[in-house]
Amino acid sequence: MTTLSLLTPSGRLTLGNLLGALRPMSERQDDAYYGLSDLHALTTPHDPALLRERVAEMATLMLAVGLDRATLFRQSRVPAHAELAYLLECTAYTGELNRMIQFKEKGRGVDSTRVSLFTYPVLMAADILLYRPSVVPVGADQRQHVELTRDLAIRFNNTYGPVFTVPEIATPPAGARVMDLAYPTRKMSKSADAAGSVFLLDPPDVVRRKVARAVTDSDTGPDAVRAGAAKPGVTNLLEILAACGGSAEGITTYGALKKAVTETVIAELEPIQKRYAELAADPAYVESVFAAGAARCREVTAPVLAAASAAIGL
Ligand code: AMP
Repeated sequence: MTTLSLLTPSGRLTLGNLLGALRPMSERQDDAYYGLSDLHALTTPHDPALLRERVAEMATLMLAVGLDRATLFRQSRVPAHAELAYLLECTAYTGELNRMIQFKEKGRGVDSTRVSLFTYPVLMAADILLYRPSVVPVGADQRQHVELTRDLAIRFNNTYGPVFTVPEIATPPAGARVMDLAYPTRKMSKSADAAGSVFLLDPPDVVRRKVARAVTDSDTGPDAVRAGAAKPGVTNLLEILAACGGSAEGITTYGALKKAVTETVIAELEPIQKRYAELAADPAYVESVFAAGAARCREVTAPVLAAASAAIGL
């Protein structure tokens, strides 16, 4: 079964990305297409040099975490994505894009909002439909976009002929959701300010400092170290510890919990950072892996784009 996943180089990869995305991706690499959606990174104000840096870092990290059996590619190197997006823009209605929650929250009504932020869900539809996955597992925040993908595929098929496979939507089992260390009620984010996010390339002393400053709780009784809705910071640390293979057994103080989390996270990141350093010393190799992946993507997507073009009358 075809698996497809795109990561947007809009920041630096975090422990949240590792536990919630990269690790599950590394367990599913057969018939898998894993991309860096550099075009999506252009939907909000960006710095070209920084974007290049982030793409290089993320590409190297994707290999460093072991995604080497999947087809790895940069979205911009497979022009079919942008080309199909245009054909789908000629299928989509402004009304339905106006209803996208992310657009409403992030840009609607602001004069300087990029048009590409408005049309982003259409590019995402192209990203998906080009690879004909039968099922798209999607978290709550992207569900509406995949529903739009289905609507566009169905509308196109009904209007011009059966070109697209209409993907089913699957809700993956709730995976690890790592929260920000400083603001434990919000998700650890790759674009947030650095204090509460552990980045995959943070050196051990930075990890130590961030975990030491993590928000816990004012309650210091004998059973203070426990998960619970009223203790989001402590719950988060316990979940990080468990997800990285550590154990909280016998831990009764926040200090001991933080020490255990620090050691476990540093141990989790160490092999990734070591591999990263090796790969970063050979950027031509990383480039060549992504170039070969893009060539493969151009090959598998060409018939879908050709069928769509022909059907729409081009
Ligand atoms: P994003 O960083 O929001 O572009 O998301 C890229 C991928 O990483 C998606 O599959 C997210 O579900 C996953 N992800 C991002 N942040 C977290 C987090 N804090 N905890 C778990 N998974 C995350």
